[in-house]
Amino acid sequence: MTQYKVNVTGLKKSYGSNVVLKDINFKVGNNEVVVLIGPSGSGKSTLLRCLNKLEEPTAGSIIIDGQDISDPHTNLDKARENIGMVFQHFNLFNNMSVGENIMLAPVELNKLNREEARFVAESLLETVGLADKFDAKPASLSGGQKQRIAIARALAMKPDIMLFDEPTSALDPEMVGDVLEVMKELAKDGMTMVVVTHEMGFAKEVADRVVFMADGYVVEEGTPEEVFDHPQHERTKSFLEKVI
Ligand code: ADP
Ligand code: MG
Repeated sequence: MTQYKVNVTGLKKSYGSNVVLKDINFKVGNNEVVVLIGPSGSGKSTLLRCLNKLEEPTAGSIIIDGQDISDPHTNLDKARENIGMVFQHFNLFNNMSVGENIMLAPVELNKLNREEARFVAESLLETVGLADKFDAKPASLSGGQKQRIAIARALAMKPDIMLFDEPTSALDPEMVGDVLEVMKELAKDGMTMVVVTHEMGFAKEVADRVVFMADGYVVEEGTPEEVFDHPQHERTKSFLEKVI
């Protein structure tokens, strides 16, 4: 049997009477980059948040790295350590330096001692092109720099999977490229990634698979060429006409 990194079957999620995810089947292979697209309100963020149980699914099964995250015997903290998440609004701790932001989780969770964490933070800052910002405060950085720090912070836990929820949507246009560049490098290095984005150029270049969600379902999925150049469903066509 193929071992998927992420294997979601029959996922449902309701908020009161609002059924947001109706029956989601969603798989991500090892080292695969999946770009998730769909209209606003179609449940993309909800799906990502279910993957690390920031949201409790109403029904269905979510297996990450072979572990059922709904199983009460699963160590949820351990499972979450393997899933890095990057949000639209960075969520950096503004009272700490950049370096402390990156060191925080591995040190607090006893994954690394301070010396090791410092070494990891310095090398990650180099990776995201911000080697000189270790002692800077987040407030002194641009949005694009903050987002690259947020990516470095997520990577400090050495996750197997990275989830990105519209990482460039809050950025000034001239900042977007640097953040996408870091994400491209990650993809090239074989990181398994799920990326919610409206950056169709990034999707075409980097995605192994594009998944289009609407109305609580995965409507269509395929290679970027299949979905963008030969969409099969009217719903996909009308969405793409609006965004491309
Ligand atoms: P997307 O990311 O595709 O724009 P979301 O997953 O954010 O969509 O939201 C899908 C739907 O779920 C929306 O109708 C939204 O109002 C609703 N929703 C999301 N989070 C909550 C919440 N915490 N409580 C109630 N409703 C929510
Ligand atoms: Mg969203």
